[in-house]
Amino acid sequence: MIREKRRSKPVLWIVVPCYNEQEVLPITAPEFRGKIEQLAAAGKISRESRVLFVNDGSKDDTWKLIKGLAASDPHYLGISQSRNRGHQNAVLAGLMEAREKCDITISIDCDGQDDINAMDEMVDAYLRGCEVVYGVRSKRDTDTFFKRFTAESFYKLLSKMGVEVVFNHADYRLISSRVLDEFANFKEVNLFLRGMVPLVGFASTSVEYERHERIAGESHYPLSKMLSLAFDGITSLSVKPIRFITGFGAAVALISFIGVIWAIVCALMGKAITGWTSMVSILCFLSGVQLICTGVIGEYIGKIYLETKARPRYIISEKTF
Ligand code: UDP
Ligand code: MG
Repeated sequence: MIREKRRSKPVLWIVVPCYNEQEVLPITAPEFRGKIEQLAAAGKISRESRVLFVNDGSKDDTWKLIKGLAASDPHYLGISQSRNRGHQNAVLAGLMEAREKCDITISIDCDGQDDINAMDEMVDAYLRGCEVVYGVRSKRDTDTFFKRFTAESFYKLLSKMGVEVVFNHADYRLISSRVLDEFANFKEVNLFLRGMVPLVGFASTSVEYERHERIAGESHYPLSKMLSLAFDGITSLSVKPIRFITGFGAAVALISFIGVIWAIVCALMGKAITGWTSMVSILCFLSGVQLICTGVIGEYIGKIYLETKARPRYIISEKTF
């Protein structure tokens, strides 16, 4: 489906994934609502715009709160996933649900870390003709040194691996429904949205914003989850690690070949000694290398396995509308 024309006052849906956010939701929900009010008053978006909360199988009262908000004000909407599926799937569920009913979506975390005032510039950029607007963190002062360092190394590693990502952009972005219609054809179940959106193309730009500290509650991204997202990002979007293994294998084979010649020459010259230490070292080193290589290849096979199953990427169990 190709949407014919852009409206001068687009309908905006703000998509907000929520997992165990009962402490922040009562604070941030009115802020999102206020932003819609303000943008509509400025004549930039339609009054039909909405805030869509995606409850990602929360174990606390988050869904109850969302239902309460939806009952109190028609600008709030909610969908609930049948269980916790993770941030990326929650965002996708929200975007796919929204795309039929709006002209533009902005995905944003519900913990108040992303500055909602960047939405003004995002909408302006859309009105000027952009279809995708990435929110980029201008500085990471509020992050710990460790988080900043690991995050920045991650972006660098990704670009080395040939994955096109916007530096310091997380999942705060505007995407038009036109782009989401095309994005819906990307059927992969291993999701890494910030690497996938650039693949769709279309005119895009970035908007800078300052990242704040979480208003309340705790981060759901401990180091283990961050590492697994990083690993997923690389292996879902790049086959360079496998190529690296091939190159590495070739290099090791070449060195081994030289080693074999050296060993034969030594033997012929009668200089062969009982080289137990060198033997054991080489054996240990190479078996380690082989295991790592098998592991990396296994990671890709695991991904293929999951993709061939083509299980649903999200299941919505309840809606407020
Ligand atoms: N989130 C989610 N499902 C999860 C984990 C997190 O929907 O399994 C949501 C969470 O409610 C928040 C956003 O994803 O709105 C980002 O999570 P968080 O703030 O914990 O991560 P951080 O900002 O620390 O990286
Ligand atoms: Mg956060």
